[in-house]
Amino acid sequence: MCLINKIIGFIDADISSGIRIAGTDIWLDPKRKKPLAFISHAHSDHLSFFHSTAITSLKTATMIKPFFKGNLRAINWGEKIRIRDAIIELFPAGHILGSSQIMIEINGLRFVYTGDIKLSSSFTAERIQIRQCDVLIIECTYGNPRFIFPEREEVAEQIIKFVKGCFARRVTPVIVAYRIGKAQEVVKILGDSGIRIRLENSIYRITKLYKELGVKLLNFKPFPPFTPHREAIIVPPHKLYLVRPIHRKKIAICTGWSLDKDMISRFYHDVAIPLSDHADFSELIRYVTLAKPKKVYTIHGDREFASYLRREGFDAVHLDESFIQPTLWGYV
Ligand SMILES: [Zn+2]
Repeated sequence: MCLINKIIGFIDADISSGIRIAGTDIWLDPKRKKPLAFISHAHSDHLSFFHSTAITSLKTATMIKPFFKGNLRAINWGEKIRIRDAIIELFPAGHILGSSQIMIEINGLRFVYTGDIKLSSSFTAERIQIRQCDVLIIECTYGNPRFIFPEREEVAEQIIKFVKGCFARRVTPVIVAYRIGKAQEVVKILGDSGIRIRLENSIYRITKLYKELGVKLLNFKPFPPFTPHREAIIVPPHKLYLVRPIHRKKIAICTGWSLDKDMISRFYHDVAIPLSDHADFSELIRYVTLAKPKKVYTIHGDREFASYLRREGFDAVHLDESFIQPTLWGYV
């Protein structure tokens, strides 16, 4: 009990911009400029380009380098470095290419901050690793039992079926996917099936970068131009206006929110496909069970997840969203 009280005292929250383990200098995915930050991955809801120094994985560093204004300290998976009294180590999160968790060892305690995670294997990201720890700070975007995603192969089949169905009816398939991670998953699924793909410009640039970083991706070109009902088009949600001039089209949105009728009704789409790069409820429970933490903090998601964990026997508390940027329509 004494240990738990002490551990609670280690979490240091900065209103509006994030958290760190008190006693360390490393802010965890802060949204505002800090002297020293850990950036878990290249999604904009987890980073600022203005930190004085940021610690990241090698691939995340490559992705954000063109925009980052400070010093980037890229670290290999598994490499241990000392920052004052803390030893830190990065290991894969399975969310998007280069996405990383961090373990911070200080005063004899092991802290893990997950960033965004995915347990089931991705087509384009590194496989997640899970480490045992004393204190776990875990994302819980889909931390509710109504979010149990189908197997990834089944989701891939849904995407391919949608595209081929459109071609058969002489309609152009448009797939809406976030530009980093989700779009490349769709490119991998369609490209490997021999389907030709046209990508909105920002997705095209990131997909080329994925390829340079070693992910095998096929059959993609920039959009426009395109061949009606013979090529699939992928656009991010905020660029859906680009396909407005196309008369005969069907739009599919790829998001884990497909399982939430209230949320999904806010999107413009014909078909919703539950392709997510986050852990679903059962994966989150599995993660915590394997990590065996004495204390759990949940962030970025359903506050009820902490109560589910308490029912499973974990000492868990939700970190209030008032100091963490909401990610409702962020990169899901
Ligand atoms: Zn993310």
